Amino acid sequence: MPRTPVVDQDICIGCEVCTHICPEVFRMEDVEGGGHGHDHKSTVYDPFGAPEDKIEEAMDNCPVACIYWKD
Ligand code: SF4
Repeated sequence: MPRTPVVDQDICIGCEVCTHICPEVFRMEDVEGGGHGHDHKSTVYDPFGAPEDKIEEAMDNCPVACIYWKD
């Protein structure tokens, strides 16, 4: 099985960097925020939508490093 990327939404600040670098894999979604209504967070909607190096680039550019590989 190839590795799949995962976003830790507890840490994601919703900056949209990953969705700009790799829109084939990451997408923004509204989630219930802790105390401030709805938050905007990244989610993985197609883990195999892009080559690993492109996903890696999104990981490297995430300002809070909350995207990681799950085997
Ligand atoms: S780059 Fe990181 S912090 Fe920004 S939206 Fe993507 S997962 Fe969230």
